Amino acid sequence: MQTNNLGYPRIGSQRQLKKACEAYWSGKSSIDALQQTGKNIRIANWQLQKDVGIDLIPSNDFSFYDQVLDMTLSVGAIPGRYQPLKDEQFPEPDIYFAMARGFQKDGHDLTAMEMTKWFDTNYHYIVPEFTSDQSFHYYSKKIISEFLEAKSHGIATKPVLIGPVTYLLLGKAKDAGFDKLALIEKLLPVYKAILQELEASGAGWIQVDEPFLAMDLDEKTKSVYQKVYDDLKGSFPNLKFLLTTYFDGLKDNIELALSLPVSGLHLDLMRGPEQPDLVLAKLPSEMILSLGVIDGRNIWKNDFANSLKTIDHFRKTIGEDRLFIAPSCSLLHTPYDLALETKLSPEIKDWMAFSRQKLDELFTLKQLATDRPIENALLKYEENKKAIASRKTSTQIHDRQVADRIESLTGSDFTRKSPFSRRKRIQQDHLNLPVYPTTTIGSFPQTKEIRRLRAKYKKSEITHAEYEKEIEKATVNVLKVQEDIGLDMLVHGEFERNDMVEYFGEQLRGFAFTWNGWVQSYGSRCVKPPVIFGDVSRPKPMTVRWSAFAQSQTKQIVKGMLTGPVTILQWSFVRDDQQRSATCMQIALAIRDEVADLEKAGIKAIQVDEPALREGLPLRNAGWQHYLDWAVKSFRAATSGVDDGTQIHTHMCYSEFNDIIESIADLDADVITIECSRSQMELLDAFGDFNYPNEIGPGVYDIHSPRVPSNQEMVKLLQKARKVISEDQLWVNPDCGLKTRGWGETMQALREMVNAAKAMRNSVAEID
Ligand code: GLN
Ligand code: ZN
Repeated sequence: MQTNNLGYPRIGSQRQLKKACEAYWSGKSSIDALQQTGKNIRIANWQLQKDVGIDLIPSNDFSFYDQVLDMTLSVGAIPGRYQPLKDEQFPEPDIYFAMARGFQKDGHDLTAMEMTKWFDTNYHYIVPEFTSDQSFHYYSKKIISEFLEAKSHGIATKPVLIGPVTYLLLGKAKDAGFDKLALIEKLLPVYKAILQELEASGAGWIQVDEPFLAMDLDEKTKSVYQKVYDDLKGSFPNLKFLLTTYFDGLKDNIELALSLPVSGLHLDLMRGPEQPDLVLAKLPSEMILSLGVIDGRNIWKNDFANSLKTIDHFRKTIGEDRLFIAPSCSLLHTPYDLALETKLSPEIKDWMAFSRQKLDELFTLKQLATDRPIENALLKYEENKKAIASRKTSTQIHDRQVADRIESLTGSDFTRKSPFSRRKRIQQDHLNLPVYPTTTIGSFPQTKEIRRLRAKYKKSEITHAEYEKEIEKATVNVLKVQEDIGLDMLVHGEFERNDMVEYFGEQLRGFAFTWNGWVQSYGSRCVKPPVIFGDVSRPKPMTVRWSAFAQSQTKQIVKGMLTGPVTILQWSFVRDDQQRSATCMQIALAIRDEVADLEKAGIKAIQVDEPALREGLPLRNAGWQHYLDWAVKSFRAATSGVDDGTQIHTHMCYSEFNDIIESIADLDADVITIECSRSQMELLDAFGDFNYPNEIGPGVYDIHSPRVPSNQEMVKLLQKARKVISEDQLWVNPDCGLKTRGWGETMQALREMVNAAKAMRNSVAEID
C-alpha cells in the first residue's frame, strides 16, 4: 500500500508567495526574487512530504497564480489580446500575470481573463477562453521543469495535470455556435507532447485530474472521455495514468470511469462514501485504487477507526498491493500547519488537522493498515481514538438548550404573520418611501484610517472608548453624506466590521478563529475561514449598538445589517459531526434573535445578506432541491419573527438566478437587492418570466470598478428593468457594498444614481 498526495498548499507557511507576488507586481522586487520564492516553497513542500514518508509526491501542484491558468499557458491557449505582449517579447511571467490580472502600462490596456469558482470551493480559477478557430501549442515548459527540479533534489514526483476533458469543460467558448469539446482533436497533440517529455525524463505515475467525472455528464461528453483515454493509452502504453476524481462520488459515471484504460483511479470517499462496493463490483483486475479517506476540504482530525474499516474492506477484497491511500482532494483547500496555531484552546486544537497533520495521518494510517502494526503507530491510534471520543462528548460542542430550541420549532416559526401583499400596504404606510426608492447595500468606503483604527483596537493600542468614538464619527459622517446625496433609506456604513462573516462569528458561541489558517482564494488573495466547532448560539446582541446609534442620529430610516445563516455557513469550516443543514438552522436562530432585538430597538428595515446562497448549491442537480429547501428554511427562520411592518431586505451578488428563482421568491424577503449591472440586467429575465411577487432592487451600477456611470446610463438600465418588473416593485441601488471603493467616486456615483431615480419618478408623473 502506498500513500498518495494529490496536491499541497503553495502560498507558503507564512504566505511568502503572496508577499513575493505583490512585491513583484508593485515593482518593488525583481522577477528573480519571485522565482526564488517559488522555488523555495516547492522544495520545502517536496522535502516535507518525503520526510513524512509520502510515497507519491505531486509536482506541478505549485502555481504562481492558478493551476488552470498554468495549464492554459502550457497548451499555449493565450487569448489574442495578449499578442502584443508576446510580440514585444515580454517575459513569460509578465504575460501570465497579465492574463490573470490585466495589464495597464507601457501603452497597453488589456483586460484580465475571467475568474470563477473552482467547483464548490472558495478557490477561484482563471477561465480558459476558446474561440472557434482556437489553436494550441506547447508553450510553457513549467510541468517538465518542475518535474526535473524535484528530480535534481532527489525526489521522484508524480506530475499533476488537469485532464484534457476537464480542461476544456472548465473553459468558455467565446464565439457562439461552436462546441468547445470539439477542440479536443487540436488539444490532444499538445498533451501528448508534454507526456512524451515527461516519459523521456523518467516519469512513472501521472496524476490526471478529471473532477468532471464526478459531475453530471451528457452522453457526448462521456464518449469524448472514452476516446481521449483510449488515445492516450495507445500513445503511452508505459505511462501509468492515475485518473483522479474529487468533490463528489462517481455515481452514474462509475462504469465510464472503470472502463477507461488507466492504471489507477482516485476516489473521493468523503464526498462519495457510497462508492466502495459499487466500484469493487466492477473493478478491472489490474486497476489500482486510490482511496481518498482524509478530508481535503476540512480541518478536522481523521477518524482512524472509520478510515481503517474502509481500507481493510479494500485490502481484503483486492489486496494491499493495489491500494493507495490519499486525501480526498488536493490539500490546497486546507491551511498549512496547525502547529502555527498557538492561541487556539488546546481542547479544540486537539480535534483539528491542517495539511501538515493530514500528511502525518496518511502515513500513520498506512502503518496501521497491516496485520501487525508497529507499536508507535498503535500509540498514535490510541491518541486519535481519544481525540475523536473527546469531540463526541465535549460540553464545548453540545448545548442542550440549542438542541431543545430546534426541536420545538413549528411551522409558524418559518412564516411571516401576513402574506406579502398585506405587509406591503402596512410598510408603505409607515415607511413613507417614494416610488423608485434609493438605498445602498450596506458598507461605505473602508479607508486606510478605518482599517488602521480597527487594527489598533484589536492590538489594544487604543481603548474601547477611543475606538467607539472614532467609529461613531465615521457613522455620523456617512449618515450626513447619505442625507445630502438624497438617498431614501440609509445604512450605518459597517465601519465596525472587517469581514461580514468574521464579525458575527466572533460574537457567536460555537465558533473558533485561527491566526494562520490561511487558504488561497485566488491569486495572492487568501482567506482565513472561521471554524464552526460546536452548537451555535448568541450570548448577546451583536449589532444593535451600532444600528440603534445610527438610527438615533437621523430622521430617515436606517437599515439594520446582518449576514445570513447560509453565507456564514458557506464561508466557514463547518463541523462534520452533524448535517450542514442542522448547523445552518442553529445559526439561523441566532440571527433570528438579533433580528428581534433590532426590531425592539426601533429598526424598521433589516437586511439579511445572503451572497453565498447560490454557491452552496451541490455540484450535481439531484441534490439541488434538498439544499434549496433547507437553505430557504434557514433564511425564513432567521427573518420570519418580525411584525408585518418591519421590512426584511436581503442581498445577493455574483449569482445567476434563473434556475433558482422559485427558491428566491420562497425566501419571502420584502425586498431583494441583486447584482445586475455587469450583465446589463439580463439577470432579470428570470424575474420577468416568473412574475416575482415582492420588491426588488436590481443593481444599477458596478461597484467593482472606480468608473462613475452617468445617470442616463442608469436610467437606461432601470427602463430595461421596468419592462419585466412593475414600478411599485422597483428599488434603485448599486450592485453591492461600497467598501472597496474610494470616497470621491462613491459620492459622485450615488448622486448620479439619485438623479436616475428622480428621472424615473418624473416619467411616472408624466404618464399619470
Ligand atoms: N452588506 C454587505 C456590504 O455592503 C454585503 C456584502 C456582500 O454582498 N458581499 O458590504
Ligand atoms: Zn454583494
